[in-house]
Amino acid sequence: MDEKITEQAAKENYRQEPKVGVYVCHCGGNISDVIDVKKVAEALSKYPGVVVAREYAFMCSSNGQDLITEDIKKLGVNRTVVAACSPSLHELTFRGVLQRAGVNPYLHEHVNIREQASWVHKLDKAGATAKAIKLAQAGVEKVLRKDALNAIRVAAEQRVAVIGGGAAGMRAALSAAGKGLEAVIIEKGPRLGGKLLELGKLYPSGEDGAEVVKKLENLVLAEKKISVHVGAEIDFVSGFVGNFKINFKKPDGRSEQVKAGAIVMATGYEHYKPHKGEFGYGEDANVLTLPEFVSLMKKLPGGRLEYGGREIKSLALIHCVGSRQVEGVHKPQADGKVNDYCSRVCCTAAVHTANQIKEKFPGVRLYDVYRDIRTYGMKHEEYYEKASKDGVLFFRHTETDQPAVTSDRTGHTIKVKDVLTWGEELEFKADLIVLVTGMMPSDISLIKSQLKLPSSADRFLQEVHLKLRPVELANAGLFIAGAAQYPMDSTEAMASAGTAAAKAGILLAEPDIPLEPFVAVVDEAKCTGCGLCPAECSYDGALMMAEKNGKKVAVVNPALCKGCGACAAVCPTRAINVAGWTLDQFDAMVEAIAKE
Ligand SMILES: Cc1cc2nc3c(=O)[nH]c(=O)nc-3n(C[C@H](O)[C@H](O)[C@H](O)COP(=O)(O)OP(=O)(O)OC[C@H]3O[C@@H](n4cnc5c(N)ncnc54)[C@H](O)[C@@H]3O)c2cc1C
Ligand code: SF4
Ligand code: SF4
Ligand code: SF4
Repeated sequence: MDEKITEQAAKENYRQEPKVGVYVCHCGGNISDVIDVKKVAEALSKYPGVVVAREYAFMCSSNGQDLITEDIKKLGVNRTVVAACSPSLHELTFRGVLQRAGVNPYLHEHVNIREQASWVHKLDKAGATAKAIKLAQAGVEKVLRKDALNAIRVAAEQRVAVIGGGAAGMRAALSAAGKGLEAVIIEKGPRLGGKLLELGKLYPSGEDGAEVVKKLENLVLAEKKISVHVGAEIDFVSGFVGNFKINFKKPDGRSEQVKAGAIVMATGYEHYKPHKGEFGYGEDANVLTLPEFVSLMKKLPGGRLEYGGREIKSLALIHCVGSRQVEGVHKPQADGKVNDYCSRVCCTAAVHTANQIKEKFPGVRLYDVYRDIRTYGMKHEEYYEKASKDGVLFFRHTETDQPAVTSDRTGHTIKVKDVLTWGEELEFKADLIVLVTGMMPSDISLIKSQLKLPSSADRFLQEVHLKLRPVELANAGLFIAGAAQYPMDSTEAMASAGTAAAKAGILLAEPDIPLEPFVAVVDEAKCTGCGLCPAECSYDGALMMAEKNGKKVAVVNPALCKGCGACAAVCPTRAINVAGWTLDQFDAMVEAIAKE
């Protein structure tokens, strides 16, 4: 569609007398099973300013959208209220309908009568219907006071910065370069590769971790659009979508800066480090973690398994060390919380390792002590089946009955209350104990605090929505790739990296980026220059005082303002408002709801 024609049509439309169309969605029964949608539409059809009110099974479907388009064309509807699901799900869908029909897309209000009415008042159908009517009426009052806003456009650096050069970081940079963008990898370690460098044969491919890294690294180094900084210590990250600045020190102390339109966080994970004495770790040389054992095994020739100058005839794997911890049973981490999440990858890695031991050191007796076997993923269950068939002995314990390890001169004794033998207390000996340790997020507290990145309860980086926006961080222009988000294997890490790069590519497809116009706006005539509002703003550079036309006034940087409204709440003269969410709109909405 020609954008100029659409904009012109939108301007003309806006100047006309407001004609509101109200559309009540059944949400396939999610709403209409509780709310009398016909009654809502009927009530709204009589509300001042409304020219048409309809109800329909799925307003978001193409047929539902066509209803709105028809009303715009035939009845001259120039503002819409859709009473339906959550705006986070479909507000953009309906803004798109308006835009395509030549109406300013911001002259739309999305009213949530699903989460806020039908779902929470299931047992009170009349009450839910009355509430839906009130919410929709408030929506009409709001949309009547809306301005025809335009997206804010900021010039963007056509470059993606990838922080972290593991499998995910390299994949993200390659995918970004494949889309024609420049990519810069900033890696703190001495070389690219991340944790795969330490791992031996990887499931599912059977390739060596270092070989996979080499292949990726060769592609990265051959790609002219990608530059790489290793040994880079990031000390300051600032800016906003389209205009980020990453400052870092190179190994010789020299400072450098990378400017980027988008950042992909591919900072990965750290192996859980057992505390001293946890199953004997750190006190007994024959207690190792799985990553330690895997990198040891990689270097050993086949045949006899030797460690610490003696032959290892029996080996016990203990699962869930540092993961799925239970409050009151396990020692908390530095922040006082236990790691109650599952590290997902370690069950498959453990049984895969058991199979490799059986292959490389056939004489070793293997024991596997677990709580649950979680070999998720295509065909991963087969590793477990193979291990069982090849004679690995499995013992299963419960959440609270943790296994115990004691050591003396004769070796290590493992005691486990075994669920598989109806809770019998079993004891067996092993020469080597391998703790199947989980994943912890990398320590990126500095970057997190400077970019205000959200963390999940598990301390990994938190995406906006696992299903709808799985690789986006809440701040525009920031994406996540790989195990920085949650424990995942390298196949998943690289898939998520490809998605993150694709998202960054879409964002940077144009030289300037459109941003939502819901930012603070100052009415300079009303502003007395009191200076109260900048003190409330938590976003550096978003709001400051400046001299304008011989007067001190508050000035907003729209690219940095997050539209939080903290400034509007303190202004004594109502001089500052968030566009699209003004105090006048709120007043009118409250009045509509409170009216008898
Ligand atoms: C015991 C074990 C066995 C496993 N076996 C397998 C297997 O067989 N198959 C498989 O597919 N997966 C396996 N995995 C999972 C695999 O290790 C991960 O999926 C993979 O390493 C994730 O890649 P990543 O790039 O997201 O993270 P990482 O490999 O952790 O890479 C992150 C990179 O970011 C860098 N970084 C961190 N912070 C910063 C910073 N502030 N600035 C700059 N750089 C930074 C790090 O130095 C690192 O190079 C296993 C995991 C474990 C624990
Ligand atoms: S994947 Fe297995 S070993 Fe790892 S935390 Fe989950 S259940 Fe425990
Ligand atoms: S709306 Fe929030 S972010 Fe924007 S200027 Fe006001 S206080 Fe700052
Ligand atoms: S609080 Fe209001 S009057 Fe005071 S500086 Fe800010 S916008 Fe101006």
